[in-house]
Amino acid sequence: MVSFKELGLVNTREMFAKAVKGGYAIPAFNFNNMEQLQAIIQAAAELRSPVILQVSKGARNYANQTLLRYMAQGAVEYAKELGWENPQIVLHLDHGDSFELCKSCVDFGFSSVMIDASSLPYEDNIALTKKVVDYAHKYDVTVEAELGVLAGVEEEVASEVSHYTKPEEVVDFATRTGCDSLAISIGTSHGAYKFKPEQCTRDPKTGRLVPPPLAFDVLKGVEEQLPGFPIVLHGSSSVPQEYVDMINKYGGKLPDAVGIPEEQLRLAAKSAVCKINIDSDSRLAMTAAVRKDLYENPGHFDPRQYLKPARDEMKKMYIHKIVEVLGSDGKA
Ligand SMILES: [Zn+2]
Repeated sequence: MVSFKELGLVNTREMFAKAVKGGYAIPAFNFNNMEQLQAIIQAAAELRSPVILQVSKGARNYANQTLLRYMAQGAVEYAKELGWENPQIVLHLDHGDSFELCKSCVDFGFSSVMIDASSLPYEDNIALTKKVVDYAHKYDVTVEAELGVLAGVEEEVASEVSHYTKPEEVVDFATRTGCDSLAISIGTSHGAYKFKPEQCTRDPKTGRLVPPPLAFDVLKGVEEQLPGFPIVLHGSSSVPQEYVDMINKYGGKLPDAVGIPEEQLRLAAKSAVCKINIDSDSRLAMTAAVRKDLYENPGHFDPRQYLKPARDEMKKMYIHKIVEVLGSDGKA
């Protein structure tokens, strides 16, 4: 058993309270490799932005859970080396699917866990979430729960259709589970293909897909029911078209990839939404930069040659999100 506090990590409690009050949101970036983690920490440290490092099931399978946890511990020390005296870094389990997994993360130094029982019947979701909360809170680890179902494909989460969160359920759910934050479904979606072309309209000038707007009425309903309660949005990459174009230009094939427009996320960040999950945009930035470098430099074979521009591109993207979309710069 190791407490996250010994590792220099923080939980989300104070961070979220400040974010809700301050009208901004904390970035939750997934990581599964060193370059991505360096880019996240450099961006957060330079901007003094609180940051949540997320570990998904796919990341655990790819990189090994133990290694990722030690990488996060290293990230705290790295942030200090970069001059960030009191780094506000959360290590968070993304989409925990069982009590045992959440417990193992709490015991191993994570400062926050998500229990995603949103696919279970309502009462079962409450029971499992409460069980995780009761355990995690003993060690001051904060818990994110989910109500409603997102569409889209994430490594461990796949659903054909979304079911918006029902505002009339949130008070009962939050009260009975004791969760610290709640992921809701208002039309965001996992992956780089968030919407089918038939769900979108097409911009006549650019020929690009324009996604349907988020259900801000549902968000408003939730806020009215639970004033000041921290709300989380999953699947909130914007799928920047510049990266999609770069990937396609240098030999890739991503037809009609589409995400959530940044102006909608900007609006959400000003509300009770205090954690916004971004994963696909980092994948796109990295892939675009790697493809471009290898295309332009057929002689490159040292991974450092093409991973350095990839890291720079990810950092640029993280900085953009923090400053231009979430507004979390200067808050830590
Ligand atoms: Zn998610």
